[in-house]
Amino acid sequence: MLVPESVDNEGVLTAVNGHSIADVVPPADMIGPVPVLIADDSPVSRRIVEASLRKWGFQVISVSNGTEAWVVLQREDAPRIAILDWMMPGLSGPEVCALVRQQRKRYYTYILLLTSRHEKEDLIAGMQAGADDYLIKPFDSNELRVRLGPGQRIVELQAQLLEAQEQLREQATRDALTRLWNRHAIFDILLREISRARRDQSPLGVVLGDVDKFKSINDSYGHPAGDAVLREVAVRISASIRAYDSAGRYGGEEFLVILPKCDSDQTVMTAERIRDAIQAAPFDIGNRGLAVTSSFGTTTLPGGETCTPEKLIRLADEALYRAKDAGRNRTERNPYS
Ligand SMILES: [Mg+2]
Repeated sequence: MLVPESVDNEGVLTAVNGHSIADVVPPADMIGPVPVLIADDSPVSRRIVEASLRKWGFQVISVSNGTEAWVVLQREDAPRIAILDWMMPGLSGPEVCALVRQQRKRYYTYILLLTSRHEKEDLIAGMQAGADDYLIKPFDSNELRVRLGPGQRIVELQAQLLEAQEQLREQATRDALTRLWNRHAIFDILLREISRARRDQSPLGVVLGDVDKFKSINDSYGHPAGDAVLREVAVRISASIRAYDSAGRYGGEEFLVILPKCDSDQTVMTAERIRDAIQAAPFDIGNRGLAVTSSFGTTTLPGGETCTPEKLIRLADEALYRAKDAGRNRTERNPYS
């Protein structure tokens, strides 16, 4: 049984059984470095909560009024758990609460209100403002620990759900072998870039590439070698383009690269850079090096124009066909018309 021995002038318990709270509460089992916001205008009360949180392994962000709390909670990396004093300068705890709940954020913020009020109507108002739970001062740190438990479980559960969602999204949009965009996703990106290019009155380059004689690589060295070649081609394509370009696996050994704000010459230059990167060094397929080449067809949508993704792909494909026909390991362009 814990016997409170010391309560500060704010009504916050500071010591139990002659020890400071931080010494009494054993380190909890389940906590990682989860950031927690504590907002309280009383330095004493704030320090006690801070000390307990640190003791339990939380990372603490500490502010002394509601306005600062709201600033912190709007940040992209805002703490997912907030302990807000009710009465504070600037915004009150319930006011901060209401603002947080109006936000459209990906992550849920678990909010615990601290209050020295007892009136039932006040507590109802606080909960209606969107608080998840409340603690009435004076509280002992065990009580605080217990009340933080559900918050932590919600935060962890949501993090797991978002991760699962992210994995599903990843599976739905990435090509499993090369990690580039899959056919569906790169097509969507092309659609989006066409409307952006039209809006910005900027050109849009499209490159369709194909590994030369890929079938014979598969036939001669086996499918694992063919897969290794495709993976390495993807790596070399990615290393040859800008951060805002997009590359996808369009078909078996076909790759589609989308180059925003690239005119016809810049598009051909990029295709050539990729082609060079692929032929520059042999591919490592098991215990041997294999020389690989590739062919490219390009087209460029002029600024201000619009057309379907299918048409741009068809134009690039016609150019690719000419590149193959003219002996492979080269780039051909098809002017937009
Ligand atoms: Mg206060």
